[in-house]
Amino acid sequence: MSVSAYPSLTQLAQALHSRQISAVELAQHYLDRIATHNAKLNVYLSLDADRTLADARECDARLAAGEQNALLGIPIAHKDLFCIDGWRTTCGSKMLHNFVAPYTATVVHKLREAGMVTLGKVNMDEFAMGSSNENSYFGAVHNPWDPLRVPGGSSGGSAACVAADLAPCATGTDTGGSIRQPSAFTNLTGIKPTYGLCSRYGMVAFASSLDQAGPIARSSEDCALLLSAMTGFDERDSTSLARPVVDYRAHLQQSIKGLRIGLPKEFFNAAGTDTAVQAALQQAIAVWRSLGAEMVEVSLPKVDYSVPAYYVVAPAEASSNLSRFDGVRYGHRAALYKDLNDMYKKSRAEGFGAEVKRRILIGTYVLSHGYYDAYYVQAQKLRRLIADDFAQAYQHCDLVLSPTAPECAYPLGSKTDDPLKMYLGDIFTVAANLTGQPAMSLPCGFDAQGLPIGMQLIGNYFDEARMLNAAQQFQLATDYHLQRPKGF
Ligand code: GLN
Repeated sequence: MSVSAYPSLTQLAQALHSRQISAVELAQHYLDRIATHNAKLNVYLSLDADRTLADARECDARLAAGEQNALLGIPIAHKDLFCIDGWRTTCGSKMLHNFVAPYTATVVHKLREAGMVTLGKVNMDEFAMGSSNENSYFGAVHNPWDPLRVPGGSSGGSAACVAADLAPCATGTDTGGSIRQPSAFTNLTGIKPTYGLCSRYGMVAFASSLDQAGPIARSSEDCALLLSAMTGFDERDSTSLARPVVDYRAHLQQSIKGLRIGLPKEFFNAAGTDTAVQAALQQAIAVWRSLGAEMVEVSLPKVDYSVPAYYVVAPAEASSNLSRFDGVRYGHRAALYKDLNDMYKKSRAEGFGAEVKRRILIGTYVLSHGYYDAYYVQAQKLRRLIADDFAQAYQHCDLVLSPTAPECAYPLGSKTDDPLKMYLGDIFTVAANLTGQPAMSLPCGFDAQGLPIGMQLIGNYFDEARMLNAAQQFQLATDYHLQRPKGF
């Protein structure tokens, strides 16, 4: 048995289907790597080798029966906000530290049907609130590129485990950038699909009108394979869209000659963008041109309001969603209390961390009588105006390009005292959640210290195929995405 270093999903599928390796051997290979490296990174929160190997044995039987699915027998890690029947699902919170899910999220169910083997559940910012994975009750995740730096958030565990090859791919969720920004910080490729394409059933909710699941992997091709398996209508999610499932891989080889890529002037002149990030984007633009793409300047006049609008809408929805955690039916319950109200208060005060409490307070405030019109309604109006800006831009371009984040992975602890500074790191990503458009991040260079830099593509609704195709062509012409951190 041999597993190539930092394998693509296609390489793994070939090894499995040609019987060079069994699904059980492959799962064991990853369990061994996790045993060696997990303590350095603090990625996996729950492991269950017996279940993982039982899953893998089932896949070996399916392989032996001649089943052809490209994902059959391939291991995957799941962000710890996807419920999986019988697995602990903590959402990075003390509130759910002992919660064992009684059912399985649709996205995970679909990936299992496709034959993917669950390696375990991975760390994340508490209730997906954060940009650095430092808000987890279970401690910060370390970036494999430099363990003294953050991996990004909130899907920091998903990104760190794929970058360190403690899983070949992972699920993530993205409410304001949590798939894209950690992908950028760890040299990975991740896509947030159009709102409604992936079912939210079984995903612990943060902000329901913004949350979307998506894959974090090492290439556009890997993301295409995973996304096709994750999407599809689900009657158990009222916002799920009834559209045919697309085979994204079938579109990857098309030429992008004549593709019009919009460069929003507001994103390219954004104050606070690191010079190394700016330089990497300029080099990437030269690559896009060499592939025959046409660069067009566009304008998104209202996009500067996306961070303020997001930090009203997301906390508002969070304050409502998180009201269900009251210590009564499941989750943390205070040991000592006087009466029912005291039990609610103490359970919530003990169960939630500081950032989650901050969001609940902000959200409750902006929804309260007297402030609702001034904040929440204004933010919803801005959402529409930002969507109008994009609609206008798509009159002139097919995809929009920007950095994914204004800077590379920063040192652990460097922004924890200043939430506003942390929020500003989401400047390029939140617009796609406010509008519901698909967006992805892919590697486009390194800074002077060798830290990865990511660029973002945003597309019109349901333009995932075009976006993944463009990213694939970029990755055929470059090797940034093939670089991996040392020591793993
Ligand atoms: N960083 C953003 C926040 O803290 C986005 C988080 C996410 O996408 N889950 O809200």
